[in-house]
Amino acid sequence: MGEISPRSAQGIRFAADIIRGSKNAIVLTGAGISTPSGIADFRSTHTGLWSQVNPYEVASLAAFRYQPEKFFAWLRPLAQGIRNSAPNPAHISLARLEQAGYIKAIITQNVDGLHQRSGSTNVLEVHGTLTTLSCGSCFQQVKSDDFLHAFLDCGEIPRCPRCLGQLKPDVILFGEQLPARTWLKAQAISKECDLMIVAGSSLEVLPVAGLPMRAVEHGAHLIIINQTETYIDVRADVVFTEDVAQIIPRIASEVLDD
Ligand code: ZN
Repeated sequence: MGEISPRSAQGIRFAADIIRGSKNAIVLTGAGISTPSGIADFRSTHTGLWSQVNPYEVASLAAFRYQPEKFFAWLRPLAQGIRNSAPNPAHISLARLEQAGYIKAIITQNVDGLHQRSGSTNVLEVHGTLTTLSCGSCFQQVKSDDFLHAFLDCGEIPRCPRCLGQLKPDVILFGEQLPARTWLKAQAISKECDLMIVAGSSLEVLPVAGLPMRAVEHGAHLIIINQTETYIDVRADVVFTEDVAQIIPRIASEVLDD
C-alpha cells in the first residue's frame, strides 16, 4: 500500500468509528472497485472498449437479437478482461467486513462476479452478471465458464445445450429493465440501512445512482470512496477522493483492529 495524506488517515479513523457504530451497514459498488483488477468500465465512454462503437447500439437487446455477431464481438474483450482478473484488496476487505458482521449486503453495478469470488455472500447484482447465460427459447441457465474457452479462443457464439437457441449473458443491456426482484430488494435495504458506503461509483447511472439519496433521506450515514466527485458528496459524513484499493483495506484494518 502506498502513502496516504494525514487528512485521509484521520478520515479512515472517522469512517471506522461510523462502521463500528452502525447496526445495518450496506455498500454500493461500481466500476471503480474493479478497475484496480484491470476491468474496464463497460458503460464508460472514456475507456477503449467504446472507442470504435456506440454502446447504446451494440450493448443493447436489439443488437443481441438482430446483430449477434456484432454484439458478441463487443462482449469478447470484456469477457476476456474478466477471465484474466482477480479480486483486489478492496473486494477482499469488504468480504472480511461482511464475515465479521459489519456489512450486511453489497449492492453492485458490476457484472464481473468479483465480490463473490472474494467471499462476499449477500450481493445484489442490479445490472445482472456475466457469470451466467440464459437461453431465450427454453430459459435454461448455464455457467459462462463452460463456454468461455470456445467463445474467447475459438470464436464460437454460445448456444443452448438443450435446444441450440442463442444464449444471452445475464447482464442487463441497454433497452432492458433492471432485474425486478433484485432492484426492489436494493431499494428496500437502502431505505432501511443506517450506513451506506459508496465504493468506486461516480453515481452517474440511474436509477442506481439514486440509492444513496434514499439512504440519506431516511437518516443513514454516508461514506464515499471514489476517484472523482459525486453529486452527493456534500451530504456525506466523510469523502475519500482516492483509490478504493488504497482506502478500503485501511478502513477494514482499523475496524477489525488488525
Ligand atoms: Zn434452450
